[in-house]
Amino acid sequence: MPNETPEGFLRFECQRGCIKCCEREGYVYFSEADARQTAKFLGMTLRAFDAKYIYKTRHQRRLRKLSKRQCVFLTPDGCSIHEAKPTQCRLFPFWPGLAGMKREWNRTAKWCPGIGQGPLIQIGTAMEAAAEMYDAYPTFF
Ligand code: SF4
Ligand code: SF4
Repeated sequence: MPNETPEGFLRFECQRGCIKCCEREGYVYFSEADARQTAKFLGMTLRAFDAKYIYKTRHQRRLRKLSKRQCVFLTPDGCSIHEAKPTQCRLFPFWPGLAGMKREWNRTAKWCPGIGQGPLIQIGTAMEAAAEMYDAYPTFF
């Protein structure tokens, strides 16, 4: 049972061993900085990383879905690039349109067990974190 959350606050704490958000239908986007960081983590050049993993459009880098898996970096033990995962994964669920949007937040809470757990976080603080998404993926907004 989630803890009570006062008005103006959220509660969130990612749950150890959970991979539910990584298994959701959807795409994983990389900013150029994300791609550089992950490529470096994997010991690859950006060019080689893009060639192997990325579907690139004019404005976006999107992780290709290989072998019908939602994310090629998801393993039974969790994210294999955890230390260098892209912005959207690092910030989730503090995304614009989610943090601060009560209806969406509550809807996401139905499948993300971390929502409603952990310490109180001011909505303003969550929105500040979410703002990083604007810089990482400016063409989304
Ligand atoms: S679904 Fe929620 S609790 Fe689970 S890994 Fe994702 S953010 Fe963490
Ligand atoms: S990059 Fe990592 S955190 Fe992001 S969806 Fe893939 S496995 Fe999950």
